[in-house]
Amino acid sequence: MNQTADAADKPLVLVADDDATHRKVLQGVLEKAGFRVVTAENGKIALEVFSEMQPDVVLCDVEMPELDGFKVCETIRARETNRETPVFIITGREDQEAVERAYSVGATDFLNKPIALAVLPHRIRYVLRTSTSLNDLRGLIRAVPDLIFVVNEDGEVQEGLSRGDATHTQQIKALSTASKVNFYPCENDDEARACIKRALETGKTQVYEHELDALDIHLETRFVTRDSNSVLAIVRDITERKNAEARIFNLAYFDELTALPNRQLFGQSLEQTIEMAERDNQKFAILFVDLDRFKRINDTLGHSIGDELLKQVARRLESCTRASDSVSRFDSGQADGIQLARLGGDEFVIKLYGIESEDTVSTIASRIISVLTPPFSCEGHQFVVTPSIGIAMYPQDGLNAEDLLMNADSAMYRAKFAGRNNYKFYSETMRTKSLHRLDLENEIRKALDNEQFELHYQPKADAKTWELVGAEALLRWHHPDRGAIAPDDFIPIAEETGLIVPIGQWVLRTACLQVKAWSAFPFGDIPVAVNISSHQFQSDSLVDDVLGAARDAGIDPKSLELEITESVLLQDEASTLAALNTLKRAGIALSVDDFGTGYSSLSYLKRFPIDTLKIDRSFVKDLHTDSDDAAICAAILAMAQQLGLNVVAEGVETKEQLEFLRLHGCNQIQGFLCSKPLSADQFAVLLREIAKKAANDADANQASA
Ligand code: C2E
Ligand code: CA
Ligand code: CA
Repeated sequence: MNQTADAADKPLVLVADDDATHRKVLQGVLEKAGFRVVTAENGKIALEVFSEMQPDVVLCDVEMPELDGFKVCETIRARETNRETPVFIITGREDQEAVERAYSVGATDFLNKPIALAVLPHRIRYVLRTSTSLNDLRGLIRAVPDLIFVVNEDGEVQEGLSRGDATHTQQIKALSTASKVNFYPCENDDEARACIKRALETGKTQVYEHELDALDIHLETRFVTRDSNSVLAIVRDITERKNAEARIFNLAYFDELTALPNRQLFGQSLEQTIEMAERDNQKFAILFVDLDRFKRINDTLGHSIGDELLKQVARRLESCTRASDSVSRFDSGQADGIQLARLGGDEFVIKLYGIESEDTVSTIASRIISVLTPPFSCEGHQFVVTPSIGIAMYPQDGLNAEDLLMNADSAMYRAKFAGRNNYKFYSETMRTKSLHRLDLENEIRKALDNEQFELHYQPKADAKTWELVGAEALLRWHHPDRGAIAPDDFIPIAEETGLIVPIGQWVLRTACLQVKAWSAFPFGDIPVAVNISSHQFQSDSLVDDVLGAARDAGIDPKSLELEITESVLLQDEASTLAALNTLKRAGIALSVDDFGTGYSSLSYLKRFPIDTLKIDRSFVKDLHTDSDDAAICAAILAMAQQLGLNVVAEGVETKEQLEFLRLHGCNQIQGFLCSKPLSADQFAVLLREIAKKAANDADANQASA
């Protein structure tokens, strides 16, 4: 065992020589010095032995039959794997030409005859040692995934030292060849050349990163000085690391849902913009965009629809902030490029740099409103989303990011307060009165306590006989400073803050007491319809509030009607259905308000205990100018007849509208043609007139009888 191991450890020398004596001498000397020896008497046999035994060193005589020593050496070198095996060529004394040929065919060294036998084993050992370390180094280079080149001072590749075997780098090379991208475009790259120069000058390793755009590959090159005019370029594929860095950056600075910059990134970019604007004496605008009643959609239709909607909104906003013909002037190509960001929830923010006047900002704000106008469609639902936009201008509305954002935000609330789907400049709101969300909440709360609310009543008439058949209660807010505020302007905020619940309770109680008061007139109860916000359905107390109001006022629940919007029915909540059924059983009438807007599905009409449809006034308005609207009204009326539903047309202002509606079977009319909403006192005057007329008619009848 030991012996074999020892034998295997001993280097194997191939001695090729046609002179038998010479062979024997060399064999003897080498074996004595601790080598194993195989011999060959001509060049042909030498090659055969070489292939078979894979010797560690070859000693080869120049002159041999069959193949001479040069040929043998050349053949060995031709085979890739034998490149490193040391080959000594044995030449005649002072045969300079032979020596040169020996090197040219790849010999490691030469030995002159007569051979100095005492030194021979040492020379062989020395050469073997060198070849072993070289082999180790080559193995190492092969094992390293990097590509290694020798590059001259001009960046030209002189030589490739590694082939990056079976690694990603090889794929890069293949890819770059296939796509004709210069894989290592050093000589055309000023930055790379500068690095090489620095490496040569300082002797310090220079690191240089670049991207092969066409291949999406990132490379990192280390330039290491090799000699006075060349460097080693060690090229590593760092694509994965770069991608990981990009992912981390994205997570930290971009909103995952919409892929827009997030609050963080926007904040940073805003700081930079402020610096730039200050330096260049420029103005810019911050537009704070908030979606009206987004919370309702999210709460009622679910987060997945809410998320989808936000994505679509983001894309539309992007389309109007992108550098396109009409907004290109605002493209902050000169700035840091971040114009649109999502701050969270349904809040977006847009930065417009280098604007000349507020007019141009207005143009963009209108554009944002109009780009959001077409209905959105998500998972089979269709809805209209409107934005409220608050605008703060640098420098007049704030000198730092915090103030600008805060003031844009409060301008946004002012826009909501002024009736949604519009925009307000902060400066403009300052001129009137700055209103923060909290102020609004407090004012609405105070309005309840201080009895600033009032109900007006709009009569409903029978379409054929023009008799009074009921009234709709409409909320009015008399603000001590601002005067009358329309419900469209404050109900959205009441809904968002939850104040709609106590307001709704007040409306129900007041309406019921009014029914009770009017019941003193001699023609029985006047049914009153009360608008119920979808938010009130989220409060557990709705059924109790409604029935309690009727009971406390001492009226028949049949004289109370609730107007609910389609969205309430579309939530299709078991609790909503249960509440409506309970109310219905108690005798309360139910109608669908603003019918025809927003939603497409009508199947819910069969599931819910509905009595009446109210055709939205937007359809009635253009009955005579818009054939679509006429068709919609006719279709609603036809459908209602089939379902046995009562129909009220809202917003009827002209005789023509009345005629059309009558003709198509509409039962009831509400609108200025009949009457504007009236205060309780005005309504009482109307009732007295009707009563007087009825009494006169009765007297006349009696007289004639
Ligand atoms: P709505 O339920 O569609 O109410 C009808 C609106 O149409 C009223 O506006 C009324 O003044 C207006 N109107 C009636 N006839 C005509 C007409 O011939 N032409 C035109 N152009 N308009 C007409 P108002 O009072 O400003 O109310 C707006 C909305 O505010 C209501 O729309 C309703 O959704 C909401 N609202 C009003 N009162 C209450 C309330 O007590 N509770 C709740 N939750 N919402 C209310
Ligand atoms: Ca209504
Ligand atoms: Ca309506």
